[in-house]
Amino acid sequence: MPILVMKFGGTSVANIERIRNVASKVKREVEAGNQVAVVVSAMSGVTNQLVDWVREVSPLSNKRQNQEYDAVVATGEQVTSGLLALVLQGMGVPARSWQGWQIPLKTNDAYGKARIEHIESGPIQDAFKAGEVAVVAGFQGIGPDGRIATLGRGGSDTSAVAIAAALQAERCDIYTDVDGVYTCDPRIVTKAKKLNKVTYEEMLEMASQGAKVLQTRSVEMAMNHKVRVQVLSSFVDQTGANLPGTLLVDEDEIMEQTRITGIAYSRDEARITLAEVPNKPGVAAAIFGPLAKADINVDMIVQNVTEDGKATDMTFTVPKADLANATKVIEDSRATLEYKKLHTDANVAKVSIIGVGMRSHAGIAQEMFKVLGEKGINIQVISTSEIKISVLIAEEYTELALRALHTAFGLDAQ
Ligand code: ASP
Ligand code: MG
Repeated sequence: MPILVMKFGGTSVANIERIRNVASKVKREVEAGNQVAVVVSAMSGVTNQLVDWVREVSPLSNKRQNQEYDAVVATGEQVTSGLLALVLQGMGVPARSWQGWQIPLKTNDAYGKARIEHIESGPIQDAFKAGEVAVVAGFQGIGPDGRIATLGRGGSDTSAVAIAAALQAERCDIYTDVDGVYTCDPRIVTKAKKLNKVTYEEMLEMASQGAKVLQTRSVEMAMNHKVRVQVLSSFVDQTGANLPGTLLVDEDEIMEQTRITGIAYSRDEARITLAEVPNKPGVAAAIFGPLAKADINVDMIVQNVTEDGKATDMTFTVPKADLANATKVIEDSRATLEYKKLHTDANVAKVSIIGVGMRSHAGIAQEMFKVLGEKGINIQVISTSEIKISVLIAEEYTELALRALHTAFGLDAQ
């Protein structure tokens, strides 16, 4: 019997009526002859509330505190898994809830954003043999010290893909409140189109550049383990079998190549500039070492050396949520870094154009810069990869930039 993993996000399980809707979708897949593991998120809004409560009582500055954070925020998924198992049972579908520690889904000790290290597949296989649906609480596992660990915000996507990989599932259907992955956020660009297929690599760039439809780690995991992932809506009366959503595929499965596949944006970054740092070997390491040690992810980096070559300005971006912390880390090492001034700006946005087509089409960067220039949008930092060009701009121009680029690269729906 084929194994199917179905994942339902917070809005799909937001209340009892929606949980019943989810249960009937699960029932349909069981009746179609699948062995089903369902991975659920917390009911929408619940995790935010739990996070707020923890923040109110703790600075979360050490491992013990992070473990308690996990103990609290993992509860949202525990509730949904139990409720869905009960509703399924009530519909005559044998089902059982599974918490991370019961599987067990083992993680490392980075509490609050733990990485999955191993998933025991035997117990769920046994449940399948007994004819049961396994309803798995997403977002959580168990750390090396036997403590509950969570996988970072949005982590139930990663739970689902990891479980699909461990069970060698036919497919991992990620049910959400949109019917697939779009060329750009349709709330901003009304002419955005749904993509039937997108490559793992493009999806990885889109997720890490701000598209919130899938957690970045889940895409990484899908790519590494070749899991067939489909993103589809839980609010449409359909099953995943005829692939109504967006399927993540290998590049050779894409027939027609466009120059650009999608445009992502993020308002979650902030810019830091260290002005007039001495231009000598080891400066970059001295700046970014302490940030890495503080677990702060640096994204875009640009360095401009002054004309006389003696000093350099170092500009980079960090997550907005880490700006205060990053500023402190830098200020604490002012004596060694010897910079003249420190500027920060949280009112920035990163806009990225993404597409494997970039490998075979020239002039895409210059076209992007021209479009932005014509709209009077100044570019503060640029970064590129083989299939992506990102620019940092003033936050107030985000919508304008997205719409102009979407049209210029021929992505608008007719
Ligand atoms: N409930 C968790 C969150 O809101 C995990 C998830 O939904 O993916 O981040
Ligand atoms: Mg999510």
